[in-house]
Amino acid sequence: MANAILVINAGSSSLKFSVFGIPRAGELRMLVVGQVEGLGTAPRLKAKNGEGTILADVRWATAEVANHAQALQEIATLLRSRSEGLELVGVGHRVVHGGADYSAPLLITAPAMENLAAFVPLAPLHQPHNLAAIRAVQEVRPDLPQVACFDTAFHRTQEMVADLYGLPYEYYERGIRRYGFHGLSYEYIAATLPSVAPEIANGRVVVAHLGSGASMCAMRDGRSVGSSMGFTALDGLMMGTRPGNMDPGIVLYLLQQEGLSAKQIEDLLYKRSGLLGLSGIGNDMRVLLASDAPRARLAIELFVYRISRELGALAAVLGGLDALVFTAGIGENSARIRQLVCEKARWLGVELDEAANEQGGPCLSGVGSRVSAWVVPTNEELMIARHTRTLLGR
Ligand code: AMP
Repeated sequence: MANAILVINAGSSSLKFSVFGIPRAGELRMLVVGQVEGLGTAPRLKAKNGEGTILADVRWATAEVANHAQALQEIATLLRSRSEGLELVGVGHRVVHGGADYSAPLLITAPAMENLAAFVPLAPLHQPHNLAAIRAVQEVRPDLPQVACFDTAFHRTQEMVADLYGLPYEYYERGIRRYGFHGLSYEYIAATLPSVAPEIANGRVVVAHLGSGASMCAMRDGRSVGSSMGFTALDGLMMGTRPGNMDPGIVLYLLQQEGLSAKQIEDLLYKRSGLLGLSGIGNDMRVLLASDAPRARLAIELFVYRISRELGALAAVLGGLDALVFTAGIGENSARIRQLVCEKARWLGVELDEAANEQGGPCLSGVGSRVSAWVVPTNEELMIARHTRTLLGR
């Protein structure tokens, strides 16, 4: 029987999963990918195989599949029927917060779960769901080893000064520091650059992860030295529904003058701001790019403006720039956004090759460009599967 690894990425109302086959030698092979979405509202399971053939598309009434444990049962049933001849040997999870100490993936044990639960207040919207998925697997298959892979871990190479806020020092000791996120995506890019773009892999690189969540990371020698996200995933770039960097005085104003509750502010900052809030149309960049509405244009303008500001800041952290790399949904697919960002980065030495950009790269810059630009598709699931394989010694 062939061995396989299950990868789980649990969100508040969704559970994404992939199954990777472990060959005797060489790279893992993605065999199944899917998700249960709409937990709590309109649950739906969709899955396809590695060739893109649909394996399942099922909808339920809200109460039939109401939580992560039930979603996992449905996934297990699907996998039993669709992956004959495969034996699961471990499960890798995306866990958003590894705190200040975890700089590498972790084999789940009872004490480890206690440590991870202590980070729930640092990421209340994500960490509880990540841990719920681990517990759900423990209930169904207590024999299966599980591995937690952290979104914060890749950034633990940053110097202390990059982690600090200008608050009284005791707040730093109490955990109020810049953790950075999207680390699994950046780690995958760092691992991929030596084969896709060896000339920049050891240089000063800024990676722009532009998806529904968006952030940027400054890397030197493939290690994180700075990032746009800080204490939470609200900081830095403007995103689909999050505002990005803003004056903390705004939160005080909303509390004290506008009388909003903490919960209302949380909802505003995580779900109603960013591209959605500014455009009043939606958070999908494709829709905004196709729209003539003035506020859609304004939202795109601010999205690009914030990226170019952050690029300047991260280039300063690196003491110069050798390459700019685009990744994630918008970064990989939108030639227009890449063009707008590169135009604003000309002062740094980025010369875009328009034809290469339209074709999707991987190299986007002209021969004489002092700073090169690239598109490198990310693969956080494969990164998690690789870590899980390594930790399980497979
Ligand atoms: P991700 O979170 O990485 O899956 O990225 C999701 C986002 O990518 C969506 O919200 C879309 O706005 C964006 N996206 C996907 N394809 C395109 C495209 N062709 N052009 C512009 N944006 C895109």
